[in-house]
Amino acid sequence: EMVRHRFGELLVSRLRDVDGDVAQLLAERERALLSERALSSFSHEALRERVRWSGVVRQYFVLDAEGDLAYPSPHGPLTATEQRFMERTGQIWRNREIPFAGSDDDSPAPPTAEKGPGKGKHATQIAPAQKGWHVWYWGDGINLIFWWRDEVGNIVGAELDRARLMSDIVGMLPDTDPIEPRLANARIALVDSQGAVIYQWGHYEPAENEAPLATSPLSPPLGSWKLDYYAPGEFVGAGYGRGVLFNVLSGLGVFAVAMIGLAVYFYRESSRDMREALKRVSFVNQVSHELKTPLTSIRMYAEMLEERLDDADEKPREYLDVIVSESQRLSRLIGNVLTFGRRQRSALKLHRAVGNVDGVLRAVLGHFDAALRARGIEVVFSGAASQVAEFDHDALEQIVGNLLNNVEKYAAGADRVEIVSMQDGDTVTVSVTDNGPGVPSHGKRRIFEPFYRVSDKLTDGVAGAGIGLSIARDLARLHGGDLTLEPTAEGARFKVVLNAPRPISGETP
Ligand code: ADP
Repeated sequence: EMVRHRFGELLVSRLRDVDGDVAQLLAERERALLSERALSSFSHEALRERVRWSGVVRQYFVLDAEGDLAYPSPHGPLTATEQRFMERTGQIWRNREIPFAGSDDDSPAPPTAEKGPGKGKHATQIAPAQKGWHVWYWGDGINLIFWWRDEVGNIVGAELDRARLMSDIVGMLPDTDPIEPRLANARIALVDSQGAVIYQWGHYEPAENEAPLATSPLSPPLGSWKLDYYAPGEFVGAGYGRGVLFNVLSGLGVFAVAMIGLAVYFYRESSRDMREALKRVSFVNQVSHELKTPLTSIRMYAEMLEERLDDADEKPREYLDVIVSESQRLSRLIGNVLTFGRRQRSALKLHRAVGNVDGVLRAVLGHFDAALRARGIEVVFSGAASQVAEFDHDALEQIVGNLLNNVEKYAAGADRVEIVSMQDGDTVTVSVTDNGPGVPSHGKRRIFEPFYRVSDKLTDGVAGAGIGLSIARDLARLHGGDLTLEPTAEGARFKVVLNAPRPISGETP
């Protein structure tokens, strides 16, 4: 298809070249006529003399301010040539088809008057409406008049000698195609408005009703003529077609090499980024480990202090609450980093213990209650997973902690978060649903990828590394379950499924 398409384009562009040559010829003729100064101030005799010696011009004419012919004058004595000119052109003058000196300069030229193809030195000095081509049909074909406003301000013009014009065009066209020798076995035909071939060249003989492979009209004023390109049917597949195919294939080859180069480049860049990221992760990991011990002490002592405060000490209790909740937050963040680091080292393991899912959920909710309430979010918990089961308590805490942390961060404007737990045999399901703005649809597919953060005004300015959900999902999957974003009409609903088998013996937590 591509070869065929490229080939068609090539043929049309070849025909346009030929058209360009013809246009060039007309432009030269236009230039020559424009350089005939002050034609309207010549005497009729002088004009007749000029016609006699010009092979190119069949007849000059001069219009008066009313658009009537001043020369050749319909009232005066006419030569035989002028007489015939009047017959050929009578209608043009009757209908005032050519703009004249007294006509409104701004009015558009009549539709049949076409602008000349070339813009010669003289031509550019004259405003566009000051010259043009006029085409009309008389006898057996097209006739051309070029008119312009001469130096004195009168509209003057010249009818081109058709036979001379055609022979000049034909003389300029090649015998065979010199530019593209491979096209020698083809044929280009110049066809006039009546479908008659004016001239054709190239060695190929098309059959009687053979359709041209390409066709292109000439530029105005010869717009009713066209160029047809004929070539044998197998032409596309052979010779030139192969050339085009080669071009296409080598183009594709270059493209492929470029793509491979780019791929290698990006691969190396990304593996370097990856190595650096790993280094950073292991550094952060170590630091986080160091941070964990003092932080645990701070938490412990703060909690102990809290127990010792009197109910009356309201302000200190408030301060202490902040210390406790902030240090809990910090330990969650550190927990996430450590978990992530372990996962990178493939060292993430579960520590299952017998326990009660609802109990763990209540403890996590206890940590978040104050913070969510402060944001005007009511926490609604309906627990139905109170039977003992084996699961990693810290992991469940981390999963739900991350989900609630996200509600705190991203559920702007929400007034409710609902936590529902269920237990069905060995399967525990926990869903966390908020009625905030929800995850933007373009980010839904990727929020579980590490470091991915949906970028919009909601996340802009909210701190986060983009690892919370990815860790939570990993932990759920390690439990033989999953973490998913469920479709909802409003807000966001995350569903955690864990495989938490019931203990074989009647152990109680
Ligand atoms: P982080 O919070 O560090 O950006 P997460 O992995 O926890 O990374 O979350 C990934 C993205 O998911 C967030 O950037 C946020 O755009 C979106 N998201 C998570 N939870 C919610 C929620 N409850 N409501 C709206 N968007 C959310």
